[in-house]
Amino acid sequence: MSPGSTASAIDKALLEESADELYHQAPCGYLSTDADGLIVKINQTLLTWTGYSQAELAGIARFPSLLTPGGKIYYDTHFAPLLRMHGAANEIALDLVCKDGQRRPVLITAVQRTDTEGRPLLNRITVFDATQRRRYEQELLLARRRAEQVAAELVKANQELRRANADLEQFAYSASHDLKEPLRVIGIYSELLQRKYQGKLDAQADEYLSFTAESTRRMQALVDDLLAYTQAVHLTLQEVTAVAGDRVLDDALFILKGAIEEAGGRIERAPLPQLRVQEVHLLQLFQNIIANALKYCGKTPFIRISAEQEGDWWRVRIQDNGIGIEPEYAEQVFGLFKRLHNSPTYSGTGIGLAICRKIVDHYGGRIWAESEGTGKGSTFCFTLPGAEQSTSR
Ligand code: ADP
Repeated sequence: MSPGSTASAIDKALLEESADELYHQAPCGYLSTDADGLIVKINQTLLTWTGYSQAELAGIARFPSLLTPGGKIYYDTHFAPLLRMHGAANEIALDLVCKDGQRRPVLITAVQRTDTEGRPLLNRITVFDATQRRRYEQELLLARRRAEQVAAELVKANQELRRANADLEQFAYSASHDLKEPLRVIGIYSELLQRKYQGKLDAQADEYLSFTAESTRRMQALVDDLLAYTQAVHLTLQEVTAVAGDRVLDDALFILKGAIEEAGGRIERAPLPQLRVQEVHLLQLFQNIIANALKYCGKTPFIRISAEQEGDWWRVRIQDNGIGIEPEYAEQVFGLFKRLHNSPTYSGTGIGLAICRKIVDHYGGRIWAESEGTGKGSTFCFTLPGAEQSTSR
């Protein structure tokens, strides 16, 4: 076919395409009613959707008869008055009741035509299928409800966890606090017994006496550490100001002077920054980690302390040349009562690093241990906000 003849065939087809065809095959439903809502004209699309024939509706049924009971009420109380008052109604969500009883969600837009005197003549109603849209809205609603439910459950679980945590801390505090006094008395009397009767009874009695005294000392250490753990961040009501890391390290090393000398330890230190942390907390971090480096040494301890900047934060590193930690246990050591080396060579309660974690967590920082394994030394790192950081917690 030549280009000229194609063009004339298109023109012909266009001419044949009547307005009626366009009306009936439109992708939306068209419906006209008189002023009382009686259907006077309806297109094929809407007939197909509802399952009725032209003969069953045109000139016989009113538009509200295609609606649900709720839709009928809505038509009388809102739709018709709106049309009368404003001459138009836009995007009204309704359900059509089809011939087989099924419902079809639709969106309706209507305009009213009036005569020269302003009296209503015709209502022209355009009906858009809203099945997909309604399903999508329902799915969205469901998803929202589910998300709200999960969020509410999370909030509840969080509250319960906080409460349980607070109760546990209160219990640990009261228990350790109330245990202190009777323990002190047991300690005094077991020491007196030992002093007075050691070597005066038989060998077994001597052994019993020293077991009692040793266990009492251990128990006292546990109770003291447990109290320190529960109190670790209770002191934080004070305002947090910047402290000089170097000065706090001086204090920690002074407190540990005896232990350093006894172990023959060597300390190497790089300058430390100003940190936004309570002095007592930083002191505790240095003290606990350096005391461990001296304790878990295996050979003459060599401890290096340094810091690197990470944006507004500082990473403090305390490296030792001690017995090391197998990497798979590096996280465990921060748990309460977790001890990797439980032999009598290394006395302890397993609370020191848990205190460190609690302190660092409080400032929103991180604490971790790095080691290549047994015998290869360990590095304990923690991050704290630098003095320039404006937000204090
Ligand atoms: P404690 O020293 O009282 O046992 P900590 O909480 O301070 O309790 O430490 C927990 C455990 O972590 C220790 O028992 C030890 O096994 C391990 N650990 C801590 N510091 C070091 C270190 N510098 N080198 C090797 N192991 C360590």
